[in-house]
Amino acid sequence: MQAKKLRYIVDFAYRNSEFYRKFYDQAGVKPDDIKSVDDVAKLPFVKKQYLRDTYPYGMFAVPLSQIVRLHASSGTTGKPTVTGYTYEDLELWSESLARSMYAAGVRKEDVIQNAYGYGLFTGGLGFHYAGERLGATVVPSSSGNTQRQIELMLDLGTTVLCCTPSYMLYLTEYAQKMGIDIKNDTELRMGFFGAEPWSEETRKRIEEKTGIDAINIYGTSEISGPVVSECSEKAGIHFWADIFLIEIIDPETGEQLGEGESGELVVTVLGKEGLPMIRWRTGDITSMILEKCDCGRWHPRIERITGRADDMFIVRGVNVFPSHVEYALMQVKEVSEHYQIILDRDEKGLDVMTVQVEISPGYQGKTNTDLLASKVRETLKSYLNVTPKVEILEPESLPRFEGKAKRVIDKRKV
Ligand code: ADP
Ligand code: ZN
Repeated sequence: MQAKKLRYIVDFAYRNSEFYRKFYDQAGVKPDDIKSVDDVAKLPFVKKQYLRDTYPYGMFAVPLSQIVRLHASSGTTGKPTVTGYTYEDLELWSESLARSMYAAGVRKEDVIQNAYGYGLFTGGLGFHYAGERLGATVVPSSSGNTQRQIELMLDLGTTVLCCTPSYMLYLTEYAQKMGIDIKNDTELRMGFFGAEPWSEETRKRIEEKTGIDAINIYGTSEISGPVVSECSEKAGIHFWADIFLIEIIDPETGEQLGEGESGELVVTVLGKEGLPMIRWRTGDITSMILEKCDCGRWHPRIERITGRADDMFIVRGVNVFPSHVEYALMQVKEVSEHYQIILDRDEKGLDVMTVQVEISPGYQGKTNTDLLASKVRETLKSYLNVTPKVEILEPESLPRFEGKAKRVIDKRKV
């Protein structure tokens, strides 16, 4: 089925998108060269830069009269890119995410509060239509207005919440201040968190504090938006094999890597026609799991995203991923999950990395902050091979985020 769908989409893109025709001609491949799934390796990769170069419609494979919706990426790494959908593309997107939500345990009886931003960002409408497709009750609360979110949750009996993991942390903290214990005072039983990197430790904290199942969801606007998630086993994110063909490649050489090897995720959407995505380089670092899942499904899985190839920063020659900083911080129980990384240069021009982290409310005034700072510094050093400066801040002094968190502030001039 994958081979058939791959042949179809490559041929479709070649015939209908000027971009793909030139691209494949230059690479010396013809649609006829693609016969099996393995032949995908003959095709060149599609990179974010091409979407920027052909902004806004240059890569589309159907006339605008067949495009029924546009979205734009959030622009984490530069100028936003525009994605377009035919009616069938929207159905495929909803189908994929609805299946994932079902696999995680959402049913028709659920009340889904969708606190992803509605608008150009794909999170809001993506979850909205997937929830409806599933037959659940969708509350389009969108992002922001935290007090109202919590009131809605109580009044409407919300059982499933969709938002970024950083917003979930904030919402939990906010509820506490309102005197509401999510675990005992609400019906909430599950959350779909993603759109930004988060760690296994953050999952543990969310689950312990709120008593819910925290499910990891994944997507990028180019592959439609949020499209896939973990199943109820929470052991990797299933990519539906009839909708996606996934590969893991060495980001340097472009060579395909084997099961379990860490590299960049490359996704081909088998069917999306408005803006075909064939061998899309996501920039996200993960590895693949091909064995059967305990849920009974064979659909391939990816491990939690450990970082973005372009998210990584270099401090004195050492590669650092924000997710590793987060992981290390979570090993120190006296500090909270709110942190920020500031990169700067000293008077000698050497990189200085400062990690600001809040003390956990329970330890405030009871712990010597100098000692705590050195404990955090030693922990970070052992995980990162870089020695950062550490600043211990009061609870609630760092910014909170309604959408994607911005954790790294790079003040260095190139
Ligand atoms: P932008 O590239 O502008 O942020 P998107 O809004 O499409 O555009 O964001 C997609 C990116 O968000 C992914 O490539 C990935 O880096 C990140 N992301 C999405 N979900 C997750 C997740 N569950 N874990 C880690 N990163 C994620
Ligand atoms: Zn599974």
